[in-house]
Amino acid sequence: MSDPVRCMTVCRVCGKEDWLDVLSFGPMPLANNYLAPAPSYDDEPRFPMDVIVCRSCWLMAIRQVVSPDVLYRHYVYISSDSRQILNHMRDVANLAVTRFHLPAGSLVIEVGSNIGTQLEVFRSMGMRTLGVDPARNLADLANARGVETLAEYFGEGLAGTILEQYGHPRLILGRHVFAHIDDLTDVINAATRLLDPAGIFAVEVPYLLNLIEGNQFDTIYHEHLSYFSVGTLRRLFERHGLRVVDVARFAVHGGSIVVFVGQAESQWPTGKAVFELEELEVRSGLTNEVAYQRFAERSGRTMRELGALVRGLVSQGKRVAGYGAPAKGNTLLNACGITARELQYASDTTEFKQGKVLPGTHVPVVSPAYAHDHPPDYFLLLPWNYAKEIIGREKSLLEQGIRFIVPIPEPLVVSNESLKDAAFSLSHG
Ligand SMILES: [Zn+2]
Repeated sequence: MSDPVRCMTVCRVCGKEDWLDVLSFGPMPLANNYLAPAPSYDDEPRFPMDVIVCRSCWLMAIRQVVSPDVLYRHYVYISSDSRQILNHMRDVANLAVTRFHLPAGSLVIEVGSNIGTQLEVFRSMGMRTLGVDPARNLADLANARGVETLAEYFGEGLAGTILEQYGHPRLILGRHVFAHIDDLTDVINAATRLLDPAGIFAVEVPYLLNLIEGNQFDTIYHEHLSYFSVGTLRRLFERHGLRVVDVARFAVHGGSIVVFVGQAESQWPTGKAVFELEELEVRSGLTNEVAYQRFAERSGRTMRELGALVRGLVSQGKRVAGYGAPAKGNTLLNACGITARELQYASDTTEFKQGKVLPGTHVPVVSPAYAHDHPPDYFLLLPWNYAKEIIGREKSLLEQGIRFIVPIPEPLVVSNESLKDAAFSLSHG
């Protein structure tokens, strides 16, 4: 195995070495490393996690790059089948097909295609599809569903094989994979080689502007190596002879963008949304150190306030539990110092997490049925991006007097009485 962690020296986007130190989380566990209960967790891996920003291209990144061998050894990512995510997949497919006039029978390739849910949407629209996902178990599941999938890493090596056997794709899609990749050059070179003159490479990433403005520091963890703005992605692709021809902004996952990239000389004129979002980024301070310093101050404040709130409740004899056990909740709890001493449990619908403990904080994960039978006084809502839906669905808990703590952007306690006032904050948070 190679070194478990390396520190980034030159910027993976612009090649310069001019970093601004933004925020240091200290040693953090791996956010998806759910553990079997044990008498001692002394062997649990922890790695430093420093957030840095490139003063040249404004890429936000984690300095420490944990080796994929370590990061994904026990990785069991199951793509969500929530209605919100399925609707989003349809929106992305419709947008790509109509905006770039994809004729029926066009080849669509998805990088990181998981079990093939997104490609099924394209198939229903009459497209030919090919999935690429290095996780063999996921590729097998996709193939069993009839979505042809190669269990390979997408890169220049594979591009030649794809060209030979399938021809040029009109669309290559990568949803939420770019932020995980250390060496972007190999992936971009592969896409460049595959795209015909009209072809489009569509890349979806969480949007840095939402992260900064929404104080979403909990979405920072080792797997997410890069945090992108439109301006930074434009520079990245320009460096490789490509051009961002359009961008669309979506509300899912706390806010994401899909950038559509073509050959520099491609027929597609650059859409005005590219210029508009870049202007918005400049106006919002993303090309200025101050915005990142303010983000660090604000997230530090939230960490202290949330930690004090939960510890205060526990010292008054209140029972507090986690609602949900998403990876980002593990950044939140570890950053705030909220552990199994404070939280009775965290309930989650994902079966493989149940019976395990959360990384770093060792809070036991239980089923929603257990939580229903053992309700706390306060639920700390870890998947805060679904706050509106969850609180709407759990009205009966509120009516029983149980309160919800929505942690991000700032801690907000929601009770049955305050629900009306909170509704505004939740829909605008
Ligand atoms: Zn840079």
